Amino acid sequence: MSRKELDDLKQQIPLRDYLEAHDWRPVRRVSRGRWMGLCPLHDDHQPSFLMDPSKNLFYCYGCGRGGDIIRFAEIYHQVQFPRALALLRQWRGLGPLLQETASFYRMQLHRHGEAVAYLHQRGLCTPELIEHMRIGYAAGGCLRGWLTRLGYPLATLCQAGLVSTAGYDTYMRRIVFPLEGNLYGRSLSTASPPHRFLPGAKGGLYLWEQVRLCPEVILVEGLFDSAVLWQAGFRNVTCSLGSHLNAYQFRQLCDGSARTVYVTFDADTNGSGEQAAQRLARRLREQGLNACRVCLPDKHDPNSFFVQGGNAQQFQCLLEEAQA
Ligand SMILES: [Zn+2]
Repeated sequence: MSRKELDDLKQQIPLRDYLEAHDWRPVRRVSRGRWMGLCPLHDDHQPSFLMDPSKNLFYCYGCGRGGDIIRFAEIYHQVQFPRALALLRQWRGLGPLLQETASFYRMQLHRHGEAVAYLHQRGLCTPELIEHMRIGYAAGGCLRGWLTRLGYPLATLCQAGLVSTAGYDTYMRRIVFPLEGNLYGRSLSTASPPHRFLPGAKGGLYLWEQVRLCPEVILVEGLFDSAVLWQAGFRNVTCSLGSHLNAYQFRQLCDGSARTVYVTFDADTNGSGEQAAQRLARRLREQGLNACRVCLPDKHDPNSFFVQGGNAQQFQCLLEEAQA
């Protein structure tokens, strides 16, 4: 790799984006547009990691390490320089690749009756919702041809986890939702595992940018829960993709804004959703937020609640009855 290619790579990946995609959060703004946050390279308890977005450099006052994005990737992933470069190039390529994949699957959705029927069965009906969530369908066997025509080598598609080495879509027969830096696929077939993600982090809270200014936020486990609520007119809904929030998602909720979080997890028969909701609400309150648990009727999640006839008014009542 030439000097110029190295400089291009460093310029094309803003250090802040890369850090945030790896669960780092800026905590405090300091002079000249720089930020302090917890150091992702050592066990840090007070923000000692300085990040300068204009110079794309970092320095940690705790562990004394610093440098550019390549240095960060070397330490963070514990790899040598050439491998760090390869990881960064792969990361840089993923954004456009996922966009192309999501657009392709969106075009496929309405060509496949089984996909539309499945969405209807799960209560996802309006064109506005499908547009809003950019929902698509992987019919299988055709993504490779589309993307290789656009110039992506098969090796890149396999490495990203989109295509198997035999050339088939890994999301075959799945409803596909684009996430930030990942794709979620829900299987239509009961023979396959229901949920699929690409390797790597699941990312932040779903469409958080659209929700973070709301004084009240409804937090659900799954995208199908999020979808029916949005469709019923609740625009302040976000989703953690599972009842366990990663550190990044937790910090998004606790970004210093005063907000109420309605934790609306599944009312599973084994009580695991309820326990997770209880734990999370407690942790949020410890951070000074107003958090309450919304109790759904037994064995229901928000999706089944609406699919089986629940309406916005009834859900609003559940919000009002939510327990601290
Ligand atoms: Zn450090």
